[in-house]
Amino acid sequence: MNECVILHDVRVIDPGSGTDSVRDLCILDGVLLNVLPDGRDGCVHVDGRGLVASPSFIDLHCHLRQPGSEDKETVRTGTMAAAAGGFGTVCCMPNTRPPMDTAANVRALLDIVRTDAVVEVLPFGTVTVGRLGREVADLEGLAVAGVVGFSDDGDYVLDSVVMRDALERAAELQLPVIDHAQDGGLVMGGVMNEGEVSTLLGVPGMPPAAEELAVCRDIALARTTGAHVHIAHITTGRAVEMVRRAQDEGLKVTAEATPHHMVLTDECAIIVEGQNGERGFNNQAKVNPPLRNSADAMAVARGLADGVISAIATDHAPHTVGNKQGSPESAAFGISGFETALGLVLKRYHEGVVSLPRLVHALTCGGAGILRLPDSRVSFPDDSLVNLTLFDPDYEWTVDSAHFLSKGKNTPVDGWTLRGKVLATFIAGKCVHVDEALRSRCTGGDITSQ
Ligand SMILES: [Zn+2]
Repeated sequence: MNECVILHDVRVIDPGSGTDSVRDLCILDGVLLNVLPDGRDGCVHVDGRGLVASPSFIDLHCHLRQPGSEDKETVRTGTMAAAAGGFGTVCCMPNTRPPMDTAANVRALLDIVRTDAVVEVLPFGTVTVGRLGREVADLEGLAVAGVVGFSDDGDYVLDSVVMRDALERAAELQLPVIDHAQDGGLVMGGVMNEGEVSTLLGVPGMPPAAEELAVCRDIALARTTGAHVHIAHITTGRAVEMVRRAQDEGLKVTAEATPHHMVLTDECAIIVEGQNGERGFNNQAKVNPPLRNSADAMAVARGLADGVISAIATDHAPHTVGNKQGSPESAAFGISGFETALGLVLKRYHEGVVSLPRLVHALTCGGAGILRLPDSRVSFPDDSLVNLTLFDPDYEWTVDSAHFLSKGKNTPVDGWTLRGKVLATFIAGKCVHVDEALRSRCTGGDITSQ
């Protein structure tokens, strides 16, 4: 590639160095230049007024489904969707088939990643063998194979002795344990948040207490072991307050919020059907942990705004059309989240709940801090291969899941109008996504993605 792209008058939010200013950026052959090249021909000029350039986003939590469920997603399609969502780095959960519970399985996945991924993919290994919660996996071997942390995501490690042992070993390895904090017994058979809406719809609930008990235990185990416990997809105001107190105490406890838990509520699960306007359950809103009420969603957004929740993570969970059909009880949990993540979280910015620099920080430095990636990944050092996401925080568009690059078309926001869209994504000097909407801002050619 021999390409010169100049972004003119773009708002550069560089959370790694804490700067936020309007300026020009030049990318020459994938390298960010501080000084614009003099009189060079053949540059693509981008009118960047109103646009934001930030380091490319980091997603701590997604499901790429490969190996084993390639009908739902593959490394290829999942990372293309990630690039469209502005993510230059994604961490994939180990609940594949087979699960990432051995070094050999991780190495086989990384072989696929090397040939098929369009963005950086960092895998998690399991906490327990087979994700069964009984015996701690070979965490040391998994670490050598290249995992960046451990998780039995999808299931809680119910046995406290097993979890304590895993945390002790993870602490030795200086790697985080990502906690799907939902007490298994209390959520068994549940479909949605236990509350007014589940009662109205007559479907089984998953109580907030299931999360709060699990978070409480794992904070206690973080204190005992000194391990880094990272609460995945936090959803309740009380859980956020527990994390706040743990941090005040100096424990290594962090948390992430998903766009859907920050913005959507259990009322999204209500659909009106039939001639008499009966209310039914919308399987597209079935997600684990469930969408909570509006007070909890706002508490999560405020927890992100004040920094207790350090990262935004998508929990991108693609499914086939068939997986999401059937009864509320039989439909699969999950939302295809990469391509709507930015548009959803920006709702909280447009409402005045979270500032734009804070959102960008949570999409970049938040994940980088938990993974302990180098500062250069989340800032714009001169003369380095560029990691950059360009987005328009005001661009209005209508979600049409048929156009998702992800194989997973499962989303409760299909047909919604969102404000804010990713226009281009660069990782390690490569342009991996360009949106149609950028074209009208380009002169001298188009930015080409690889
Ligand atoms: Zn989970």
